[in-house]
Amino acid sequence: MSGLEDLFVRAAREGAAFRDGVGERPVAGTASREDAWAAFGGALPDGPTPASQVLDDLLAAAEGHLVGSVGPRYFGFVTGGSTPAAAAADILAVGWDQNSFNPLMSPAAEAAERAAGGWVKDLLGLPSGASVGFVTGAQAANTVGLACGRHQVLERAGYDVETDGLIGAPRVRVVSGFERHATVDRSLRLLGLGTASLIGVLTDDQGRIDVADLEKVLATEPERPTIVCLQAGNVNTGASDAFASAIPLAHEAGAWVHVDGAFGLWAASSPQRAHLVDGVERADSWATDAHKWLNVPYDSGLAIVRDPVVHGTSMAYSAAYLAGSGRTDFSLGDLVPDSSRRARGFAVWAALRELGRSGVADLVERCCLLAGRMAERLAEGGATIHNDVVLNQVLVGFGDTSLKDDDPSTRTDAIVEAVQRDGTCWLGATTWHDQRLIRISVSNATTTEADIDRSAAAILAAAARVGLG
Ligand SMILES: *Cc1c(COP(=O)(O)O)cnc(C)c1O
Repeated sequence: MSGLEDLFVRAAREGAAFRDGVGERPVAGTASREDAWAAFGGALPDGPTPASQVLDDLLAAAEGHLVGSVGPRYFGFVTGGSTPAAAAADILAVGWDQNSFNPLMSPAAEAAERAAGGWVKDLLGLPSGASVGFVTGAQAANTVGLACGRHQVLERAGYDVETDGLIGAPRVRVVSGFERHATVDRSLRLLGLGTASLIGVLTDDQGRIDVADLEKVLATEPERPTIVCLQAGNVNTGASDAFASAIPLAHEAGAWVHVDGAFGLWAASSPQRAHLVDGVERADSWATDAHKWLNVPYDSGLAIVRDPVVHGTSMAYSAAYLAGSGRTDFSLGDLVPDSSRRARGFAVWAALRELGRSGVADLVERCCLLAGRMAERLAEGGATIHNDVVLNQVLVGFGDTSLKDDDPSTRTDAIVEAVQRDGTCWLGATTWHDQRLIRISVSNATTTEADIDRSAAAILAAAARVGLG
């Protein structure tokens, strides 16, 4: 008897108990960061500790310091929960401890990624021949997509960036809306393109690019190798760029088109919302998350590329696959920035199998309707809604929300703090077009109408406590 079964069962039982109770606890951790440091701190043990004791210690240390972000009333950032089957599959992935580097190391991990990747393309209406890399999140997926763009536009300019690097290369430009996600800028820094390669495109009141301005920008230096980076789902408003007009324009200009669709791309899975991302399938690469709207446990993102040869050549593990080699028998590890990697495909496979096509569509549509309900309840209570609630994001303000340079701590921040302290729900503040606003994201499969009504009441009560004057 190894004792392993007791240990694993206990860990799983504790995880399940946390989830089962998460709707009844205060959403934020109840103690301070310093308390958490003390609970986990102390000196490195001189010698071994039995595993069961370590589990006891971990459970005790974490008590009061966990956040209920997997629960139904967590509306911060864009945070999904995790479906029962996806969470259980991830527990198995840890138990099996497979390395998803290549099929030799785990045929099961490879097969799960192949199947789940195919299902994701099907659901999102993306080309069936595209390749899918399983990465940590949309940050990594943006890096992969933009690396593929870098490869392609420089290859067209007669330059082999994988061999020669960027020094001496033609200056690539990256054309993207001013309301792009911050991860795009970091990806460009990591790829050596630098943020100076960015040419901003004007955006409208919802953060969508102005297609006429895109056309103008593209025409200014038509000879430059160009990547156009568009967005499905602005992190504040949920709005998506006008792909049907923007992508053909970018392609006419010879550009590679990458779409950052961390959560917004999932609109394609809902018949009622698919029009919001109409034409997105014409892009060259897409970044999305499974750990946001698909409700797969952290961490899980997908880098999808129309041309598997560009994908593999840009990210290849081995020089045997680089440009000119003619080899295209790419493996899992040639589609991602990692070498050894945990088997993320099991959880994505499990979530999609559990939900099915209709289940994903229902999940997306339900979250959108709940976001609309939240906006309605808050507006009835005197709040101002600052975005068109077309997806799952709601921007809310009470009274004057304009940012004042001399007083960065606004009433909005005070209300957010009061909501967090109350513990009924959790949300954060954001800055949007010179306004300090509350941002609410409804992305969890377990959120109900009752959760929305209860949370709206708590937010209105917090606003009343802080006072409107
Ligand atoms: C969340 C988000 C990202 C980053 O995703 P991670 O999963 O945190 O890596 C990128 N772009 C958009 C639009 C997002 O909402």
